[in-house]
Amino acid sequence: MNTGQPENIVIVGTGATGYTAAKVLRAEGFTGSITQIGSEQEATYRRPAVSKELLLGTKSVDQVRLGAPIDGVDVRAGVTAVAVTDSAVQLDEGDPVPYDALLLATGSRARQLDLPSSAHVFTLRTVADVAPLHADIERTGSLLVIGGGLIGCEAAAAARSLGAEVTVLEAASAPLNRIAPAAISQMYRDLHADNGIEMHTDVIVTTLEERGEILVVTSADGRSWSAGTVLVSVGAVPNTELAAQLGLEIGSGILVDAGMRTSTPTVYAAGDVAEVPNTILGGTYRSEHWNGAVDQATRAARSILGLDVGSLDVPWGWSTQHGVNLQFAGWTGVDDEYVVVRGSIEDRRFTACALRGDTLVGAIGVGYPKDIRQIRSLIAHGDRVDRELLGEDWLDQPHAVVR
Ligand SMILES: Cc1cc2nc3c(=O)[nH]c(=O)nc-3n(C[C@H](O)[C@H](O)[C@H](O)COP(=O)(O)OP(=O)(O)OC[C@H]3O[C@@H](n4cnc5c(N)ncnc54)[C@H](O)[C@@H]3O)c2cc1C
Repeated sequence: MNTGQPENIVIVGTGATGYTAAKVLRAEGFTGSITQIGSEQEATYRRPAVSKELLLGTKSVDQVRLGAPIDGVDVRAGVTAVAVTDSAVQLDEGDPVPYDALLLATGSRARQLDLPSSAHVFTLRTVADVAPLHADIERTGSLLVIGGGLIGCEAAAAARSLGAEVTVLEAASAPLNRIAPAAISQMYRDLHADNGIEMHTDVIVTTLEERGEILVVTSADGRSWSAGTVLVSVGAVPNTELAAQLGLEIGSGILVDAGMRTSTPTVYAAGDVAEVPNTILGGTYRSEHWNGAVDQATRAARSILGLDVGSLDVPWGWSTQHGVNLQFAGWTGVDDEYVVVRGSIEDRRFTACALRGDTLVGAIGVGYPKDIRQIRSLIAHGDRVDRELLGEDWLDQPHAVVR
C-alpha cells in the first residue's frame, strides 16, 4: 500500500454507490479494512427494479442483486450510522467503527407529504416497501398515485399491469416535466391513457381522508379522487444528517469537488446524496440516477486511494413504462430547445437533442440508445452545433461517434 493511503475505510450506505466504491477499492488493490454500514436489511440490490420488476412481481430480490459479495468487506446490513466524529462512526448497535477515510453514500429517502397516516398510504424507495404496497394493490384493486414523476409513472404502469384501476395526480401541468419537454410529456400522457390510466395535472393535493375502505384525496381547487390504495411519490430528500454533524458544506446535497472530496479532507460523498460540479456547463447538480451513482462511486474510491479520477461522466438515466424504454442525458432545463434528430415522438421512437443557444446540453429518446451515447460524448466535449445540420446524417457522421 502507498504511504498516505488510509488503512480503515468506512462506507455508510449499501446502495449502488457504497457497493461500487467497495468493489473499486478492492479492484485497485486496497488491502486495508473496509466496513460498509447500511440501514436496509437487504443490502446491495438494484434499486431501479423496485418500481419495475419487483413491484410487478416478475423478479425476486435475488435476481436483481448488484453483484457477488466483495472479498474482505465487512458488510453490516440492518445497522444505522447514528453519529459521526472526525475519527469514528457510531452505530445504533455495537461498537463505534474507527476510520481514516469515510465515504458518505447515504442516498436519499422518499419525500413525505403532510397527510394523515393510513395503513393504505405508501411511499416507494426500498425493497422493503414493495411487498406491502403490492399486497395492498392486489387487495383493493385501485391505486391513486400522487406525483407524476419517473417513479410515480413507473409504479402506475406496474399497478395497471397487475390489473388495478390507476389514477395519477401531478402538481405540475405535465407529467415527467423535470426531464421531458411538453411534446414528450404529452406522449407519456397518451401512453398511459392508451393503457387505461387516468392522469390529472395541476393537482395540488391538500387533504386525504379515510372513509371506510376508501381513501379520498382532495386538491386545493376542490376536486377529489378516491381509491383503495394511495402511493405518495413526490421526490426524494438527500440523507445529509451525518454530513451536517461533521459541519460539511451542504447545498441541495453534500458539496464535493470532482474527486468527491467534501470540505473535510478525510470525508468523501458520492451518489444521490452528493452535489457535484458540472465541469462542462458550470454550476453543480445532484445526479439522482443510477449511472451517476456508479460513476461517482468509482471516482470516490480512486480519490480515496490517491489515484487519478478524470472527469465525471455526462449523466444519463432511463425509465421503463408500459414496455417503452426512455433514455435521457445531460443537464436540461425548462427553457431549452429540443430538436428531434431521428424518428418521431408520435411513433414513440425518436432521438431529440436539447440545445441551449447553440450548445448541446442534453438528449432524450426512445429506441435509439446508441444515439444517446453519441450525444453524451459530444456534450462531454462541450460541442456547439450548427442547427442547420442537425438530423440523422449529423448523428451518423463519424464526428458524432465517441472520440
Ligand atoms: C424506485 C426507484 C426507481 C429508480 N429507477 C431508476 C431508473 O430506472 N434509472 C435510473 O437511472 N435511476 C433510477 N433510480 C435512481 C437510482 O436507483 C439511484 O440514483 C441510485 O440507486 C442511488 O444510489 P445511492 O447508493 O447513491 O443511494 P441509495 O440507493 O439511496 O442508497 C443509500 C443507502 O444508504 C443507506 N443509509 C442512509 N443513511 C444511512 C445511515 N445513517 N446509516 C446506514 N445506512 C444509511 C440507505 O438506507 C440506503 O440503503 C430509481 C430510484 C428509485 C427509488
